[in-house]
Amino acid sequence: MSSDKTYHLSSNGKNYIALIDCDSFFVSCERKLNPELKGLPVSVVSGERGCVIARSREAKALGVPMGIPLFQAVEKFPECLYIPANHYAYTIISHSVMDILKSYSPNVQVYSIDEAFVDFTGLTRLYKKNFFKLALEIQEKIANEVDIPVTIGVSTSKTLAKLASDKAKNTNNRIAFAGHLTRIELLKRTEIDEVWGIGRRLGVKLRGYGIKTAYDFIQRDDAWVQKRFGKNGLTTKSELLGIMVSPITNEIELPKSISDTKSFLEFSSDLNFLRNELSIHIHSCCKRLRKIDCKCNTIGVILKTKDFKTYYEKINLESPLDFEFDISKIAFEILDKMYNPQILYRSIGIVFEDFNKNSETQLTLFEQNPNKEKNEKLGKSLDILEQKFGRNIVRTGFIDKNVPFKQGFLTSPQDVN
Ligand SMILES: [Mg+2]
Repeated sequence: MSSDKTYHLSSNGKNYIALIDCDSFFVSCERKLNPELKGLPVSVVSGERGCVIARSREAKALGVPMGIPLFQAVEKFPECLYIPANHYAYTIISHSVMDILKSYSPNVQVYSIDEAFVDFTGLTRLYKKNFFKLALEIQEKIANEVDIPVTIGVSTSKTLAKLASDKAKNTNNRIAFAGHLTRIELLKRTEIDEVWGIGRRLGVKLRGYGIKTAYDFIQRDDAWVQKRFGKNGLTTKSELLGIMVSPITNEIELPKSISDTKSFLEFSSDLNFLRNELSIHIHSCCKRLRKIDCKCNTIGVILKTKDFKTYYEKINLESPLDFEFDISKIAFEILDKMYNPQILYRSIGIVFEDFNKNSETQLTLFEQNPNKEKNEKLGKSLDILEQKFGRNIVRTGFIDKNVPFKQGFLTSPQDVN
């Protein structure tokens, strides 16, 4: 009778969505590349002197916190293994996982490097399997062919699929289904700030209204939700009720922000040094912007002092940008205003926000930047050079005679002509 049940599940007019989430993705990639790491406490560190950005279950059990600077982590948790991040390898492995998902469904929305929504509607009939067996098959195929463990949550909306996958992390088979009957129980057990898109700050506001769980939230009527939390609040409520408001699109969802920051090896109050570090972060973010074929409308600079005070200044751009030289010029102006020579700084970072797809960017009647076309070509050339010859083969930014660059150093668009 299982085929009857399957038929019923996929033919009641609802859409079914699966969220496939790779477990501790960067660590899993490192273990795929070096199987001896399996079962050991492993943390992945961004850059040589960066911070912990991913931890294995064993590293978490030791107490290694997320974001801890490497020098502190090594001192506090010497038994953990620290591996520098290899984002290039992670991207290739991610593509292999996504290709398997795309072989099951024509509608796959790659949400991040290690997460994707897959349209499961109709797949149970196509593959003659119920949701659990189908999820299990996909999970096994990814494990066998790519050697990456994944967690799968299935439900009728993205928000519920995400909740189901979060809950699945605590189960043995790492697969969970939030259907009509199990949904209410799941919502009662879900703290309000665990809901996708709510987060800690909004969670505090909701708790102020006596809403502790996702279930409490769906009890409020639409007018109440709309008045206090606008359209996004209503969308979340509908999705929690199992109604798909946000459909799966094959287009990559634009991120809310792109940022890059790193702690210095030693505290510094040297403006030239700060500018150089900022340039490196700008280059990394511009590359990511170009990869998703976008420009940003807002840029911000973050400065952290030795005493852990954080300063953040951002400005809205007159026209959207994606090129290192244009952005550096503005970011340096922001930095100059924030900079105080009396203060020792521990880190600097850049944040890009408010993105436009290049295909949607309107050309302004009076174009602000006469080098626009040239810069766009140059940006793409930079990316191709790096792809061919490795990261940081060419550097963009500010010249400081005190900071030697071993590799090519590009100072202005003219230099590549
Ligand atoms: Mg993950």
